[in-house]
Amino acid sequence: MPRSGEHYINSLRDGRTVYLNGEKIINHVDHPAFSNAIRSVAKLYDYQASNTELMTFETPCGNRVGRAWQLPTSRQILAERGDAAYAWARQSCGWLGRSPDHVASAITGMITHIKLFDIYSVERADALRRYYEFARDKDLYLTYAIVNPQGDRSKSPGEHTRNQFHTLGVVREMRDGIIVRGAKMLGTAAVLAEEILVAVQNPLKPGVDDKYALSFALPLNTQGIRILARKSYEATSTQLDAPLAHHFDENDAIIFFEDVFVPWERIFVYSNTAMCRQQFHGTAAEILMDTQSQARYAVKLHFLAGLAQRMTQITGINEFPSVRESLANIACHATTIEGLFRSLLHNPIQYGNYFIPNQVLLYACQAFAQTIYPQVIEIIRKLAGGGVIMLPSSVLDFNNPELNHMIEATQYSSVTSAIERVKLMKLVWDAIGSEFGSRHTQYEMFYSGPHFATLARLYGRYDWQNATDMTSTLLASDDMMDFRTQ
Ligand SMILES: Cc1cc2nc3c(=O)[nH]c(=O)nc-3n(C[C@H](O)[C@H](O)[C@H](O)COP(=O)(O)OP(=O)(O)OC[C@H]3O[C@@H](n4cnc5c(N)ncnc54)[C@H](O)[C@@H]3O)c2cc1C
Repeated sequence: MPRSGEHYINSLRDGRTVYLNGEKIINHVDHPAFSNAIRSVAKLYDYQASNTELMTFETPCGNRVGRAWQLPTSRQILAERGDAAYAWARQSCGWLGRSPDHVASAITGMITHIKLFDIYSVERADALRRYYEFARDKDLYLTYAIVNPQGDRSKSPGEHTRNQFHTLGVVREMRDGIIVRGAKMLGTAAVLAEEILVAVQNPLKPGVDDKYALSFALPLNTQGIRILARKSYEATSTQLDAPLAHHFDENDAIIFFEDVFVPWERIFVYSNTAMCRQQFHGTAAEILMDTQSQARYAVKLHFLAGLAQRMTQITGINEFPSVRESLANIACHATTIEGLFRSLLHNPIQYGNYFIPNQVLLYACQAFAQTIYPQVIEIIRKLAGGGVIMLPSSVLDFNNPELNHMIEATQYSSVTSAIERVKLMKLVWDAIGSEFGSRHTQYEMFYSGPHFATLARLYGRYDWQNATDMTSTLLASDDMMDFRTQ
């Protein structure tokens, strides 16, 4: 049987070290800062267990696990992976960014290009291969921290002279493993996941940054791992006042490693700056994980389109031509991302035995996605006016009979009741303007790296020859010459 939500929740009771608001949290699973988000993930596993054909496949050892672990050995399997990601994204309307299928896809994408690791180091390749099988067969929920903390971005980690362990690096090497110290950003879902993949996305300089050039995976309860959670939006939310934060606040954390032991069998890259880059960009890791992201993003944009339309119906502006144009713009963005996502699934490139989405198309999709999210939010803000602010202060206002007639009068709508209007408007604000909503704008702009880096990757892989050939051919044509001599 696939794992259940209950099995997942129990596995999180592992004694990990989480800090929040100055306190060390003893039981993070039932803590008001995290418990609903954990239950939302549990529902994903329950959904998976009740939709086994759509969501799972059978591993060589006979377990049924999530399709994100399935190697795309045919076009059909690639499409099925995408359908499963889409179905899971619909369970949170796209608001759980780092659902368990994201990092599972990254590891699976490394395995499609395991030859690259074999060439680099047989031992490290073996460790990765065995880790993939281990995590796949247990259907583990992994998160990752693959960005070095900001510090001074004009310097690489090795040039941060004041504190050489500002960024996670190797303290010492031992016979059975290494000791690491320092920080990584930004472990989204570190309180929800079971293990963490640590790696490096930032550029590193050979010779200067070797001790920071590593990648490994560990359980999140490993001794010395500190999860420094950001402020919880869930903790202060209610279903009525902030329904998205109430259910889907996946949290983000700085992950601090206080002299943590990492055994060799969990180390995939060691002291090799080039391999750190290749791990994501030279394999299908980034491609498969961000194809999953585009499934989620398409779902989220459709949700925002529907939310915006419902809001305009409630405020009676939905028949104005300019309002329909604004709504159509959101629908246009949602449909474009959906089309790009389907194209990633259905026009793959064959690499050995595997069918991999087109990398250039993925970069174009990422760059476009990063640009349009703030635009979509701005459109909804313009349509919302003050309606998302002129609301009862909290659910408690409904408990005071003195306020009832005033809420009825001020929350009037021609098409629905006062309470339904309040519920909808609070949902809109949580999506576009609350601290939870603002964090999502930052997330969509940055989770796959800064925009300039996405464009730099696109520039490097785009088929410029194909593009410039047309210019050359046109300029060299006889007609053109004739035109010039006339
Ligand atoms: C909500 C959220 C969740 C996240 N979750 C995760 C996660 O789970 N795991 C993970 O590993 N990471 C995660 N990230 C981190 C994310 O990957 C990084 O934010 C992203 O890679 C950008 O890095 P940075 O934030 O350090 O910004 P920087 O790299 O410092 O860039 C910030 C800005 O500085 C400018 N800039 C910086 N360098 C240059 C340059 N060389 N040339 C020109 N301009 C430059 C650009 O304007 C850029 O947009 C998350 C981020 C957010 C916001």
